[in-house]
Amino acid sequence: MINRDPRCIYVANSVGDADIVANWLTENGVAAEVMDRSTLGGLDGLTPWSPLGVGARGTEVWVLDAANAPRALQLLEQHKAERAAQLEANRDSGPVSAECEDCGKVSVFPANQRGTVQNCPFCGSHIDVGDDGPDAIDVGEEEP
Ligand SMILES: [Zn+2]
Repeated sequence: MINRDPRCIYVANSVGDADIVANWLTENGVAAEVMDRSTLGGLDGLTPWSPLGVGARGTEVWVLDAANAPRALQLLEQHKAERAAQLEANRDSGPVSAECEDCGKVSVFPANQRGTVQNCPFCGSHIDVGDDGPDAIDVGEEEP
């Protein structure tokens, strides 16, 4: 198994997630920072084919003082739900897929169109681009 530094208290799937966790910990009194981005030589997390700079090991978040690691882990565990909600709220860096209620086709829209109404590229009907899952769509069942 990978032998991580004791200061590594979180491994994120993306630099964005790692940033949020590091900032969150710092706000809660445990100074932390994202490591991979600035330590090309020290960690093998970066891969040349990954545009986000996220390698197979993920993006590591370290506490600055190893003595704070147990506290950081405790905080992360205690506030898992809160942090998950925050991660979700910040997860707007990627494209958004939305299903057209009229023709049923799934289209992908850029992240900056999240929460807006666009025209379906297939049938031209209005389509909601947003966080609402399919469960939220229960109107407009207009079968021919
Ligand atoms: Zn459509």
